[in-house]
Amino acid sequence: MREVGLKDIQKIYIEESAMHTPVAKRALKIFSQDKIELVTDEPYLLEKGNPSAKQFDRSKKELFITNFKGQFFKRCPGAKPGLTCCNYFVLNLGQQCNMNCSYCYLQGFINSPITKIYANIDQALVELSEVGQTLKDHSLRIGTGEITDSLSLDELTLYSRELIIFFRDYPKWRLELKTKSSRVDQFLDVEHAKNIIISFSLNPQNIIASEEHGTASLIARLYAAQKSRDCGHIISFHLDPVIYFAGWQNSYSEMIDEITSRFTPQDVPAISIGTLRFQPAQRHLMRERFGTKSLTLQSELFQSQDGKLRYDQKLRSEMYEFIRQRFLAHSREWNIFLCMETPETWLETFGQMPKHMRGLGEVFDHRITHKLTKTLTKKLTNNLILKRQSF
Ligand code: SF4
Repeated sequence: MREVGLKDIQKIYIEESAMHTPVAKRALKIFSQDKIELVTDEPYLLEKGNPSAKQFDRSKKELFITNFKGQFFKRCPGAKPGLTCCNYFVLNLGQQCNMNCSYCYLQGFINSPITKIYANIDQALVELSEVGQTLKDHSLRIGTGEITDSLSLDELTLYSRELIIFFRDYPKWRLELKTKSSRVDQFLDVEHAKNIIISFSLNPQNIIASEEHGTASLIARLYAAQKSRDCGHIISFHLDPVIYFAGWQNSYSEMIDEITSRFTPQDVPAISIGTLRFQPAQRHLMRERFGTKSLTLQSELFQSQDGKLRYDQKLRSEMYEFIRQRFLAHSREWNIFLCMETPETWLETFGQMPKHMRGLGEVFDHRITHKLTKTLTKKLTNNLILKRQSF
């Protein structure tokens, strides 16, 4: 299947209060009039709750451009008891994704059958500036790809361009734009900010073909990464989710050989790996939408401490070690770490915890997280007090 894009969007709802925003104005220019509808309320409000397979499929082809009224900036969901967290924070500028991966965790998370684009990015940047008043000089890592893909709709939003410019004033922070698309051309003419990471989730082409529907091919993602690197951006790769199937070693070896033929360890400061994981509750929707032939449903999974289903720890460690060794066979300089994993798996795979490993000490320094959590809690409390006073 080819990579999906704006031409696959069938309907665009624009909330009247967001009409004046740049993203709404751009939508009016890009899409034909018959696809656009102005609304005063969120569409499909009566369908709220767990979407059916049909509603979920439709939600990927319809956009709702709206102003977000909640908090944009949050801690990464990996920050849970039982997992080793890497001090990651998320800036949510939308919800749902126009691509269609069989394992996508949004199938257990989304409760609204439409893709939302938050039009008030100016508010999100105000929130970030407030965090910056206390933490400008700390090494924060912030990503926009938690509940949407960072770049697959970026030709419409152009948020990458605004974020690159904003982050120039925060040289100690890092912004990660995480994607399975190849859509980078819309920001390559913006001068790089030295702290923007264009981050590609990668899997072997046979996994992309069978599980990552509507995403860019492996070669297209690697080519987009090369273009980003050549324009001065930092790039990173996530081998996530690594999926088990008969012959996985060959496919992952071929992919790693392809990566290392195009990039050096200096081009890619860090590579994270994570194996397949998802909430048990989403399994029925996965089965209904992708059938029982999906590779994600082929092997035995066990519930781990954070409630998600995963391969058993021995298999996870075996897969991590295999992948790490394949990279190291090309160069000892490759810097590999695990994403959303338990301390036991870190110890079994690397023999030590990440804060003691070369290049990872600061990433896993939880003093930064605690300071930021305090700042966010204080800010939330202040907002609540202000809201109460205004009643
Ligand atoms: S690209 Fe990411 S957000 Fe989009 S469907 Fe795939 S896993 Fe979900």
